[in-house]
Amino acid sequence: FSTLERFLPDERATTMLGADLALALRAGDVLALEGDLGAGKTTLARGLIRALAGDPELEVPSPTFTLVQAYEGRIPVHHFDLYRLASAAELNELGFDDAVAQGAALVEWPDRAVGRLPESAVHVELTHQDAGRLARITGKGAAIERIGRSLAA
Ligand code: ADP
Ligand code: MG
Repeated sequence: FSTLERFLPDERATTMLGADLALALRAGDVLALEGDLGAGKTTLARGLIRALAGDPELEVPSPTFTLVQAYEGRIPVHHFDLYRLASAAELNELGFDDAVAQGAALVEWPDRAVGRLPESAVHVELTHQDAGRLARITGKGAAIERIGRSLAA
């Protein structure tokens, strides 16, 4: 079990943490993005997806209404926002279990999918700190070890 912390003074720093996470990400990884509305979850996902795609201008809208968006890149990734999820059954319609089993998957509001995230999921919790954000990255298993080593390097 390990914990990493990084202070993110501005939006750019959140985007860069996403890009740093993208370097270490492998197929099969699941990132649970936790934090209140406005915490920076979508900003981090956008930085990560753009880095995976190798395209800094790629449109990465919040999947607020679609609940999921799929992207191609070095590895394919599904970006979920479960805030408006109506029921657990709706997760089936979204193909949630398959997307998570295949990975990589980024999940905003992962508490809406309790019991359906793998044990190995890496949790990124964003909270307000001063004018910026604090990122706490936790997890257990191979993915957090690999990601931790990569972020420390
Ligand atoms: P969420 O998806 O968690 O609701 P968003 O990614 O949409 O949040 O971000 C909300 C706002 O926070 C955006 O205006 C973004 O520019 C801003 N933001 C993101 N990261 C930071 C940061 N480290 N410091 C200050 N503002 C930030
Ligand atoms: Mg969001």
